[in-house]
Amino acid sequence: MDILTHALSGVLLANSIPEATLEQKIAIVIGTVLPDIPFARAYFLIAKMAKKSLFSLNLNDFTSHGKFVKPKLKTYLFFHSFLILPSLFILGFLFNDFFVFLAFGWILHLVYDLFFHKYEEEELRPKPFYPSKISFNFGLTNGWRFKKSHFIIMWLIHLLLILLITL
Ligand SMILES: [Zn+2]
Repeated sequence: MDILTHALSGVLLANSIPEATLEQKIAIVIGTVLPDIPFARAYFLIAKMAKKSLFSLNLNDFTSHGKFVKPKLKTYLFFHSFLILPSLFILGFLFNDFFVFLAFGWILHLVYDLFFHKYEEEELRPKPFYPSKISFNFGLTNGWRFKKSHFIIMWLIHLLLILLITL
């Protein structure tokens, strides 16, 4: 999904834990955004190849230029693997619970991506237990197919839920 939907899902989760401190809530929101950051350069590369702006990229651009960013795919899969989470919990218990709340946001990001990254091509499907090759094919749709109006609806739903939970 897009970074704004991920961030809004983080605000939603953070606001649904009233006992959480501001620092813990911020950790959750950071956790919902962080998994995509190491791969962010790949989106710019795809946009350059497709000669389009970052915001007008679609599924076709991703699948036809995806091979140019293939070396970066491993980074993507690494940060989108549930197997990275135990290390965050260990850091949390050893040093600071910031990492535990970061992990909560991280989990939410991974769950969103599982359901919004549905691909025909086996190699593009989410691999929640990377480096295991087991892929996930129970997604609802593919975020790359979203039109601008779909994104706006998605953001509005999140904002509405945040409002309902906060009031
Ligand atoms: Zn992601």
